[in-house]
Amino acid sequence: MADASGPVPPMTPPAAPLRRKLIAGGCTLLLLPLVPGLARAATIVAVRTWPADEYTRVTLEMDTELKAEHFTLDNPHRLVVDIEGVQLSAAINDLVSKIRPNDPYISAVRVGQNRPNVVRLVFDLKQDVAPQVFTLKPIGEYKYRLVLDLYPKIAQDPLMALLKDTENDPLAGILESLAQGGPSEAPIPSVEGQKLPPTARKPPEGAPPPPRTAPGPRPGRPILVALDPGHGGEDPGAIGKRGTREKDIVLQIALRLKKLIDAQPGMRAYLTRDRDYFVPLNVRVQKARRVQADLFISIHADAWIKPTARGSSVWALSQHGATSSAARWLAKKENDADLIGGVNLGAHNAQVAKVLLDLSTGAQINDSIRVGTQVLKEIGKINKLHKNRIERAGFAVLKAPDIPSILIETAFISNPQEEQLLRTPAHQQRIAHAVLSGIQDYFSAHPALARRG
Ligand SMILES: [Zn+2]
Repeated sequence: MADASGPVPPMTPPAAPLRRKLIAGGCTLLLLPLVPGLARAATIVAVRTWPADEYTRVTLEMDTELKAEHFTLDNPHRLVVDIEGVQLSAAINDLVSKIRPNDPYISAVRVGQNRPNVVRLVFDLKQDVAPQVFTLKPIGEYKYRLVLDLYPKIAQDPLMALLKDTENDPLAGILESLAQGGPSEAPIPSVEGQKLPPTARKPPEGAPPPPRTAPGPRPGRPILVALDPGHGGEDPGAIGKRGTREKDIVLQIALRLKKLIDAQPGMRAYLTRDRDYFVPLNVRVQKARRVQADLFISIHADAWIKPTARGSSVWALSQHGATSSAARWLAKKENDADLIGGVNLGAHNAQVAKVLLDLSTGAQINDSIRVGTQVLKEIGKINKLHKNRIERAGFAVLKAPDIPSILIETAFISNPQEEQLLRTPAHQQRIAHAVLSGIQDYFSAHPALARRG
């Protein structure tokens, strides 16, 4: 209990306005006995942290749904979370050691029994945050979860991240002018769906101000390929017999593919996640749109109840139902990522509905089938194909109305031989090469598509 011995923070009345939010765990709470003697203290079974540039997630997993209250304090910045109905335990004290020194948002956490039955967590922050605190019902391997998402007050702009990534790159100037005059000014939505302002964009020092281009094609701009490694963070995706997690394999393949793409003249790749953290499906789409990607490629590894199922497949969006019941099953499984990874679903659905509303044309789907066909052909040279043609289903992540989008199931992680292949760096590299060849074939056959207006 050494970690809890630290003082529970002084609760001097804050001068700054205090934001207090109550998260009730739903109506089941009302059924809990109010007599303290009868109330069983909940047990925190695990705590996890997922630091990333964009946000840090702290997850407390427990055997009962709990009530939590949170508020922020300034000077210095702190987030205080009171969890009702729990006692201090080894698992919750463990949280202190889970905060990594390089966490972008949290410098330290203190845990204490604030009142009988109330545990107080105090996060000392490196910057002002807009916290989102919500609960998730049991799903998959998880019991009840209390999720604390620490977002920066000003959302990170993916275009700026792309620029940072291309420093000392001859294409940086082109990307810079894209960032300055880009027509797609939709800010990245936070998980709650509220719009956060894009960060200010400063031209590099000493550089002449880049011309503000009207929305339209920018000659000479690189082809931007958004790579979307599926799952991440709380959501492991499919898991193989040997414990191989889809989220790790697809990130490896995406990182390899990014390297290959970035080495091509006039091509750049952008990753919707570059580490092990969870990104909601609609945010993946929004990120790709924000950088005005010319192509969106979601990378996955399949699973099926029968270990004999094998082979690669490539998918495009279907607006009118899946091509088969297996396709429907797969799309549901991939779309369930949000439930497992954990998003505040109430507000999230509004975003998905909006993206769907925008989908007024089948042009995206036609282009997706074209690029998918090329990619499938190339993958067929290095692995058995599950189906010889593009399959269709309602994957949420393929719903950008203006970007050709495909989802690649690289292989069946549930098939022992293919699991072994997916674990092999050489095979991961072969997949990356095949996808690159497919992309190149597509853009050389349809050069106009790389210069969308
Ligand atoms: Zn997947």
